[in-house]
Order: sequence, then structure tokens, then C-alpha cells
Amino acid sequence: MAFKSDIEIAQEAKPKDIRDIAKKLNIKEDDIDLYGKYKAKVDYNLLKRNNTNKKAKVILTTAINPTPAGEGKTTTTIGVADALSKLGKNTLVALREPSLGPVFGIKGGAAGGGYSQVIPMEDINLHFTGDLHAIGAANNLLAAMLDNHIHQGNELNIDLRSITWRRCVDMNDRQLRNIVDGLGSRVDGVTREDGFDITVASEVMAAFCLANDIADLKERLGKIIVAYNYEGQPVTASNLKANGAMAALLKDALKPNLVQTLEGTPAFIHGGPFANIAHGCNSVIATKMAMNFADYVVTEGGFGADLGAEKFLDIKCRMADIQPSAVIIVATVRALKYNGGASKTELNNENLEALEAGLPNLLKHVENITQVFKLPAVVAINEFPTDTEAEVDLVKKKCQELGVNVAVSKVWANGGEGGIELAEEVLRLIDEEENNFQFCYENELGIEDKINAIATKIYGADGVIFTSQAKKELDKLESLGFGNMPICMAKTQYSLTDDATKLGRPSGFKITVRQLNVSAGAGFIVALTGNIMKMPGLPKVPAAEKIDINEDGVISGLF
Ligand code: ADP
Ligand code: MG
Repeated sequence: MAFKSDIEIAQEAKPKDIRDIAKKLNIKEDDIDLYGKYKAKVDYNLLKRNNTNKKAKVILTTAINPTPAGEGKTTTTIGVADALSKLGKNTLVALREPSLGPVFGIKGGAAGGGYSQVIPMEDINLHFTGDLHAIGAANNLLAAMLDNHIHQGNELNIDLRSITWRRCVDMNDRQLRNIVDGLGSRVDGVTREDGFDITVASEVMAAFCLANDIADLKERLGKIIVAYNYEGQPVTASNLKANGAMAALLKDALKPNLVQTLEGTPAFIHGGPFANIAHGCNSVIATKMAMNFADYVVTEGGFGADLGAEKFLDIKCRMADIQPSAVIIVATVRALKYNGGASKTELNNENLEALEAGLPNLLKHVENITQVFKLPAVVAINEFPTDTEAEVDLVKKKCQELGVNVAVSKVWANGGEGGIELAEEVLRLIDEEENNFQFCYENELGIEDKINAIATKIYGADGVIFTSQAKKELDKLESLGFGNMPICMAKTQYSLTDDATKLGRPSGFKITVRQLNVSAGAGFIVALTGNIMKMPGLPKVPAAEKIDINEDGVISGLF
């Protein structure tokens, strides 16, 4: 059976005027900036003026350890929101903005899939309202001011070898990963080794996403550490007097973008930090705004629950004082088979043994949500066309036997209609199940204890090994006064361990922390368990080769 591509489905949709979508939320036309007919920015000051102190129910979508293709968290988030709308609930979706890097690389678009998408998907995937470019400009302004400061005499005594700030661009361009700049004569700047990260990996993005308003953003930007001086003391963006201008560049970007799903459910798509060296979810401002204008907010954390949900709960919810109401854990038959040992090329074939062998991975994530974070959870089996009935039944039966809430989700194939069973279960969780939300660790603990808590409770590790470099960095960060920040773990998304090949539910392992650094503007300590690529490259055949536009301006090849 042939299926329509995501872009074909999206282009067949008849979107509503975005002013009507805003009206549904009781947001007046005066309070939105129109970006054409189908996109608008909503002023964050509206939240101050119109704060009803209403706190909508926040539903987090997360997943088991994924296959390299992604497990449908975004698709499920959108589909369940459409289902809630169908059930008469005033619902908003809150999602991350896609980065151009993955769109042109391997992953393609990030606006959902099948009949659960946000539109206009071409715009959302390509530039959208320019937020990522603005974030890049703010990042690069800081870089320019840093190098100019050094060129003009280096009053702050910046040790050139200690510069941590890098330039950025929203593209997968490995050519820029390591560069030498400032070449030429005396007037051409100071020659040094430098490099570019992809914009979504910039700390400006993380700080932007955690800011409560423009004043908070300015303060966070000011705390960003760009280098150290010869005494080993941090040099910040505020020392360079850069944060005011950086925030000025971000004034429009900071307004959440309003769009709609294929079925007309309003959606905020705003901010998109990396899910490894950053916390991986949409902006606090968008979530708060959504909580103010709807009764139910469905949102997504990046990667699997060991990373995305943990950070959403321990970093974002802590900083923004959000108490989630329920968690959806997306599982696919494909990823379960993958976790159960089936090879990537065989995931389309029925394999009940591998499927059963993969289930412990799912159960660990369920336990984490219900027993560590003490939140109600439901497993959503995101049904693929390649799944067999026997496979879906097996997952369902095993969950039921173990008392795990489970619902089959058919939102990719059927939109909101296919998510009714899941949405009803989510509503039941919110009404009936206990919610004693707690963090995985208290912030007051030392850095080592916090990392230990995440590793043992969430990953199921026996403990944590700190390399000698990491130990040195740990002492330095604590002596500089950063010890009381939450932890942002940078770890492979494929495994509960720090080894991407250890699938399922491994035991008897330790996590090795190789490096620790501080994102002082974002407000967290980053613990790296391996090398994290902050500037990805393009694959041999980039997705960009298939993307095209015809003379009517219709885009094709985005999937
Ligand atoms: P995630 O948010 O977990 O990375 P997405 O929702 O972006 O995953 O989905 C990843 C890809 O898988 C998308 O191209 C989407 O169209 C596709 N997909 C998701 N769910 C299904 C499904 N049930 N059947 C077929 N394809 C799906
Ligand atoms: Mg996603």
C-alpha cells in the first residue's frame, strides 16, 4: 500500500486563518503579530497583562530508547492534542522549532507526521519566523565583541587558550567545525583556533528557552561565560557589555509562534535547544503562555525518557515551577524489537521474540516516571503500518499483565480520531491517578551526588566514574559557586548506559563522566559522558538533494 508523504498530506490541508486560531484562545487580533495568513507571534507581555493564573494541565510526551529513525513523539504529541480537541477540551500543543541542519541532513522535518502534523509544515521546517537566525545573530554578536575586545587591548586579561565561546550557524556544516580565524595583518584581528556549532547547540538557545521574560533573558545572557582570564576567573557576556544588545536582537524571537495542527488545534512552536548538551524542549515562555490560554497543554521532551523527560522534569519544571499532570511514553514495536536485539534492517519483519526481549527497556522508563518522578504515565503504542496485529497485542497484553497503563495510538494514520483511546486514558490518569511529583534529586546536593542520583535512579547504573579531568572540573565549578545548579546530562540517546550499543535494560554498569562544564546563562551544569557533536555534518546523500520548489512556489521533497 502506498502512503502519502507528510508534505503531500500537509499541502492538501485547508488551514484556518491564524486570527481565528488566536480567537479560539481568546487572544485578540491586536495582541498578535501576523507573519502572513497562517503564522503569528504572540507578545509575551500579554501574559503579564492577561495572566489569569490559570494553570492548564501539562501533559509530557516522551519515549523509550529510540531507533535512529525517531519513535513518533512529535507525531503523538500533535495527535493526542487533536484527540483532546475532539473531546471538547481547550487544548494547545507546545513544540520545539526545527533546525535546518537535520531538515537537510538525515532526519528531515520535525513537524509531526502522517495525519498528525503542524502546518504550514514547509515554513515551520524552513526558517519559519526567523527565530533561529536571530539566536545565531545574538551568539555571533557576542563572538565578535569578544574578539574585538582582545584586538582592542584585552583589558579583561582574557586567556586566549581558555576561550569557550564559539560561533554558530543553523546548518550541518562540518567544514566549519574547527577553523582558524583572525588571519591576515595586525588590523585583521588576533589569529586563533575557533569553530562553529549548529545554532541549536548555542547556549543562547538554552538561555532563551529557559527565560521567563526579556529581563530574565538579558540577565541569563549576561551570565554566559565566554572565556577565563589569566587568574582563572570567568569572563562573561556582561563583562563584555554584550547582553543588552544580544537581548535587543532577540526581542521578536522571544515571542512564541502560533500555528495550527492539520485539524485546527492551536500550537506554539518556539525555541529548540539540543537534547544532549542542553535540555531539549520548547521555551518556558511558550509553555507558560499555553498554560494560560488553554486547559490542556501537550508538549514533548527530546530523545528518550532517560534524557528528555528527566531534563524536562528536573531542569525546566524546576526552573519554571511547572507541575506536570501526566506523561505519555511512546513506544513503537520497531524500537522494542531494536532494543530486543533485532537488527536495524529487520525491524519491518514480525519478530515476537525480539519484541518481548525489548520490553524491559519500556518498563524501566515507565518505572522511572511513576516511581522516581511519581507521575501518572501511560504507554502509547505508536502503530506503524509494518506492525502486525500479534505484535501490537503482545505489547498491550504484557503491559496489562504488569498493571502498566497502555493505549494504542493511530494518530499517524488517522489524526485526532486515532488518538481518542489515548486521550481518554490521559484524562483518566489526570482525574484518577495519584500525582506526587518530585524531582530525581534536590538541587542543594553536590554535583557528584546529583549525577549519581540520575545515573543510579534513572539509568539503573551501579555508580559513576569521574575521569581525572572531570574531577578537576568538578572542583573548579564548585569553587566558582556553580555547585547548586541542576545537571544536564549529555549521553547517547540509544541506551540507558553511556554506550550506544547496550540496548534493552542493562544492569551492572557504571557511567563515565569525562567532562563537566557550566552553562551559566542557561543555569545548568553539563556532564559529558562521551564526545558530543555540536556541529553535525551532512550524510553522503543529504535530504537536501530531494528538496525542490516549482514555479508556483510549491515545495516538494520535505518529508
Ligand atoms: P520523534 O519526535 O520521536 O523524533 P517524529 O514524530 O518526528 O518522532 O517521527 C519521526 C518520523 O517517523 C516522522 O517522519 C514520522 O512521519 C514518522 N512516523 C511517526 N509515527 C509513525 C507511524 N505510526 N507510522 C509511520 N511513520 C511514523
Ligand atoms: Mg520530535
